[in-house]
Amino acid sequence: MATYAYRCQDCGPFEVRLPMGTAGAATGCPACGSPARRVFTAPGLGRSSPALSAARAREERSQEAPEVVTRVTPERPEHPALSRLPRP
Ligand SMILES: [Zn+2]
Repeated sequence: MATYAYRCQDCGPFEVRLPMGTAGAATGCPACGSPARRVFTAPGLGRSSPALSAARAREERSQEAPEVVTRVTPERPEHPALSRLPRP
């Protein structure tokens, strides 16, 4: 399903949810029933959280220019489950 925007001459804008690709150039206004023309709007971009956007931007940057590590990551205490793994 996709959301399509229409504008009635008398009642103003409204949205209709239809299966993708099935929206016509006009539809009946839900309030007055008169024909309403379809309005084309920008796609809903930028709705992800700032943390997700930052992670995606970092991933994109790493494809061309990976970040250089200048120091070793400090040791963390080993997880107890790791001690049960077979050792060579
Ligand atoms: Zn109307």
